[in-house]
Order: sequence, then C-alpha cells, then structure tokens
Amino acid sequence: MKIEDFRATTNANTTGEDATQNTCTSAPLLDVGRGNDPLKPEIMEAISEIIDCGRFIGGPYVAELESAVAKVSQAEFGIGCASGSDALLLALMAIGIEPGDEVICPSFTFFATASAITRLGGVPVFVDIEPSTFNLDVTKLEQLITEKTKAIIPVHLFGQCCDMDPILEIAERHDLKVVEDCAQSIGATYNGRAAGSMGAVGCFSFYPTKNLGGFGDGGMLTTNDPEIADRLRLLANHGMRPRYYHQVVGINSRLDAIQAAVLCKKMGRLADYSARRKSNAVGYRKMILESGLQSLVTLPSSPVGSEHVWNQFTIRIPNGRRDEVRQRLADLNVGSEVYYPVPVHQQECFAYLNCDSASLPETEKAAGEVLSIPIFPELTQQEQRYVVDCLAKVLEVSGNREPGLKMAG
Ligand SMILES: *Cc1c(COP(=O)(O)O)cnc(C)c1O
Repeated sequence: MKIEDFRATTNANTTGEDATQNTCTSAPLLDVGRGNDPLKPEIMEAISEIIDCGRFIGGPYVAELESAVAKVSQAEFGIGCASGSDALLLALMAIGIEPGDEVICPSFTFFATASAITRLGGVPVFVDIEPSTFNLDVTKLEQLITEKTKAIIPVHLFGQCCDMDPILEIAERHDLKVVEDCAQSIGATYNGRAAGSMGAVGCFSFYPTKNLGGFGDGGMLTTNDPEIADRLRLLANHGMRPRYYHQVVGINSRLDAIQAAVLCKKMGRLADYSARRKSNAVGYRKMILESGLQSLVTLPSSPVGSEHVWNQFTIRIPNGRRDEVRQRLADLNVGSEVYYPVPVHQQECFAYLNCDSASLPETEKAAGEVLSIPIFPELTQQEQRYVVDCLAKVLEVSGNREPGLKMAG
C-alpha cells in the first residue's frame, strides 16, 4: 500500500490543511543547516570581527552570552565553560563532591550526568523515572538517601523540568545540594521558575543539536550564589588567581569567543525556536490522534504549569516493536533516534557499581520503548504529516492490526 492511499483513509477529517497536497517524501531527525543558514551573514561578520580583534578566549561575546543565558534562566550569574559535560563536572567540584560521596541522579539520561560524579570519585546512585514524563520519580528519591549522600542531579530531560518542589524540599530537609542538568532544557520553566534557577547550580550545553546550539562544543553554568559563581570561575580556569598563582586544582574549561558570538546571534531567536518546537509538538499530538494511532504509540505528557521546550518529541512504541518501527521509518526516509538505548547503570564502564536492575524497572522499560521523532524548529508541517503517515503505515503493516483496518495480502 502506498502512503498516499493510506492518507486518504486516515486523514479524512484533517482540518486546516490539504492532505492530498503533501509531496514530501522524507523528514530528517535534525537539520541544523536550516536554522543556521539565515543567520550566516551576521555570524560570519561576528567571526570576522573576532579574527581581527585576535581575542579568542573570553571577551565581549562571552560576557554578553553569560548575561543572556543568566537572564533567560532567571539566575544572577552565568559562567561560560567548554561543554555541558564540563558544566556538570565543575558544578560538582564547586559544591565539594569528594571521593566516596553519593550523588543521586537518574540512569535514564545522557552518560555525562553520571560520569561527572565518578570523575570526582563520587558514587552515582540511580533513581528510577516517572514513565509519563521520563523525569526522575520523586516518590523514589528519599529512600535512596544515606549518610554519604551529598547531592541530587535532577535532569530536565527532553526539554521538560522535573517536579522540582518536592525535590527541593527533600534536598533541604537532608541538607543536600541540587545541581540541575539543563542541557536539554534552556528556557523551560516549572511553575514560572526557569530551569537553572532552582538548584545551587544549573548546567547547560550548547552542543549543536541542543535548543541553543553552537558550531562546536560549549557550555554554561548558572547560579544565584555569588560564592559559588566565584568558585566556578576559578575552577574553570585552572584554579588560577591571579595569573600563574593556583589556589586550587581546577580544569581548563572556557568558552571561546567564536562559539559565544555564534550563540549570541542565535540567542535572540531562542524564544522563537522554542515556540516552533512547541507548535510542532502540538501538531504531532493532533495528527497522531487524528490518525487513530493513540492505542499504538504513547504520547509524551507535559503537566500543566510548566513550559516544555521540546528538545525531543519522544513517543513510546510498546510490545517490543520499537527497533523494527525505527528501521522501517528509516526505509521511508524518516529520521528517528533512541535516547537512550542503554541506561547508564547498564553501561559496561559502570558494571563495578553492581546496580540492582530491579530498582529501575521504568528506566529499563523506557529504554526499550522510546523513539524520538523529528521536532527541530524548521521542520515543516508537510514533513510532520509525512512522519505521522509513515508511522501509521509502519505500525499497521508490522502486525497488531486493529479490527477493520486489515489490508489485502
Ligand atoms: C548533551 C547533554 C549533556 C552533555 O553536554 P555536552 O555539551 O555534550 O558535553 C549532559 N546532560 C544531558 C542530559 C545532555 O543531553
């Protein structure tokens, strides 16, 4: 059965668009070029300015970006660094994580959340996730706290803030520091409070596919505490103050001027990027419901009161069909990705932690079911329609057909 045939049967009551006009035959997961191209003249000019000036580390663009990110994050201070991974490491160094200290974080996250802990000799203690948001399950948090626990790293995964009130309350009661992993959630809010303003430190990434993406690696730390801000700056520059006098052993993790210039040019459009991601998410929800796929895929949920910035639109494909669906989508030129196929506690390098799988059932279940589909800001409506049509096609023909939808052959 061809896509067009299927569309005719599923899109009969689509409103506001002419489904028969969709000539789209592919949809990439990402296309950073579409976002960068319109800004190229401005960016080239800024880069040329930096080449002429000769200051490649720090400088006015770094300072401008630090204030801009601090502002959008409702934080007092922004401190540039070399990557999101370094931001996490520096945050844990600044709050004094030492060998043997336990830090609670989800296992359903990007590796860097946990490796920052082990780099300092700390022990990651993994908390399971809440299946509908993919964020850490606050009801499982307190039972993991021991005398050795020093901090919690809530990861605002896929662009959505964790349920921070109970996390902050538990942290306060047990005298624990909270480091927010905001790598995927710049501009997201929780009951009006921005990601990166709620814990002791917020950690951001400017990896090219993040919501604010550079032309290489880059990162940012946010905090409202002047002492922590000062310490972060010191640690990010070899613990050196004044020059060639080292107070503590820091690292070299600075944001370079060219990255900062690129990011400054994009920063002005961040609200627009987020709005477009959101509108794509709304579009998917509508199209998926209209196509009658809600019994075959689980849509991501976004609790009211919080602003989701949709770094990913992650659906679940249950019944062990995810990998097959992904392959078939690829055959139809629809990009998708599994974030993340192997939870951190199951990674080879963390086998020594002897983590009990039984304590992380939702994490392991999610790893087998999640599929992120294209949602970047410049994705067109026709491409979205194509994605949903392909999804409908693939889910139907790969078995589990609903009565009445059987196809010939
Ligand atoms: C991307 C990411 C990081 C790491 O950021 P880099 O800039 O790539 O080092 C950390 N945590 C999460 C959740 C991420 O998505």
